[in-house]
Amino acid sequence: MVESLCYNDFEQYQLLAHDLGAAALRVLDDATETLNRISNPASIVQDSQRDFARLWPSDFSATYIDTLPADANVLECRTALWKNAAGDQTLLVGRDPSDIARRLGIPVTEIRPNWAAMVFPQEGLGLSMTALGPPNNLHEVKHWLGAVAPRTHNLWHRAVQRRTHYERAVQYCFFVTQGQVIGYFADHPPKHRRARSAKQTREAYVESVYDHPLSIVRLHASRIDDQYLVERNLSHGDPDLRGLRVLLIGAGAVGGFLACSLLKLGAGLPSPSGTPGPLTICDREILTTANIGRHVLGLTSVGKSKAREVCRHLSELWPGCDVHPIAEEFVPSAELLHGYDVVVDATGYETYSRFLSKLCRSSGWLNAGKAVLHLWIEGRGAVVRGLIQRRPADACYDCLWNYATTTEPRPRFPAYSDPAWTQHSGDGYATMTPFAISSPMAAAALGIDLLRTRTDLRSPSFVSRAVDAAGVHAGVNKSPDRISKCPGCHRS
Ligand SMILES: [Zn+2]
Repeated sequence: MVESLCYNDFEQYQLLAHDLGAAALRVLDDATETLNRISNPASIVQDSQRDFARLWPSDFSATYIDTLPADANVLECRTALWKNAAGDQTLLVGRDPSDIARRLGIPVTEIRPNWAAMVFPQEGLGLSMTALGPPNNLHEVKHWLGAVAPRTHNLWHRAVQRRTHYERAVQYCFFVTQGQVIGYFADHPPKHRRARSAKQTREAYVESVYDHPLSIVRLHASRIDDQYLVERNLSHGDPDLRGLRVLLIGAGAVGGFLACSLLKLGAGLPSPSGTPGPLTICDREILTTANIGRHVLGLTSVGKSKAREVCRHLSELWPGCDVHPIAEEFVPSAELLHGYDVVVDATGYETYSRFLSKLCRSSGWLNAGKAVLHLWIEGRGAVVRGLIQRRPADACYDCLWNYATTTEPRPRFPAYSDPAWTQHSGDGYATMTPFAISSPMAAAALGIDLLRTRTDLRSPSFVSRAVDAAGVHAGVNKSPDRISKCPGCHRS
């Protein structure tokens, strides 16, 4: 009823003269809603990001910025332009714009150098930055920065006053703020760019900022540095895999999806301080048409090494990532293990998992900072399970079996209520049955979640998830106790 008495025009309410009372109530309602929104920080960020996009449009179809290393106060960057066949212009900003081009799959020969850029990578700007309205010239930029981010203002002020700023004709300037990057382009007149003395530089500064403030073009850029790409979608405190030497054994249905997900979690990327983080993927098998229905790879990879093709796929997803295939039988040894920080066993082969688990412990490899993750699909594909060993006190792979009751080890935590589904065929593989692609995808997802809890020792080390519920026991999510005299981890 109230709606009919007032008029909504892009979130603006206009009171109708014939019934001020009801319309005023509606406005109060709206004010309450706004106050509620303000008390929810997540919504403020969303509101603020919407405002940014409106106030800081990009002059280009896209602007990508690589701001690493982010510990510097000011980064002297170069920019390059790329024009596609449709005439859309993409601006690349970084220490090395051709590196950004390579990562985006843009032909390096087609990019053209543009003006230099200064980037302020510290997240020093606050959310109040839109309160003053967007600046239109250099004087307003100075005023605005001084009000919302005094520290960034001082850095900017000093940098702009520097002689090199004019000599290099620095025309682009970007500020990293709450998850996004805003900036401006200022077209300095040629006489400013020719400043040859401190005096001339000072005069150029005074003129472009105070006397005849230079107009700016506001710009909005997207970060493309690994730090942002990896951390943007992680909760605060979730450990990523950058800078760790990760070994993935098995590039089958589970390993293929997992390889892609490991990459998104930072495997194959260097740490922020530059420590290399190679991802090694081993599988001796060749991809066949029988695999295609549940594998991340497609027909173009049939007949080729799974390990090599998964690595090629990753390099397409993330050009420049540090991935290495091992396409032959991989027999881990104590010496080899010490070359890795995280080992992921996606073989789904019980005998292999037992061997690997035992080796991780007997070799003394399993210690602070290391982790071995076993992932498998159980029985007919309705249950995916993962066990992560983060320290010697954790249960090992053998601890999941009961050796006491029979000569054949029985699972301590059976996944299926129908015992027929937990039986194994003679070769040590879990019962081979057809299952949909959802099962390996679920296993890969489970693996990522276990790796995200790598540093949280209170979280369960053994997690099971049901892809479909019929005939399946309730999920077993716990940290099992180690069994006495376990063949995998008992020390006499
Ligand atoms: Zn054990």
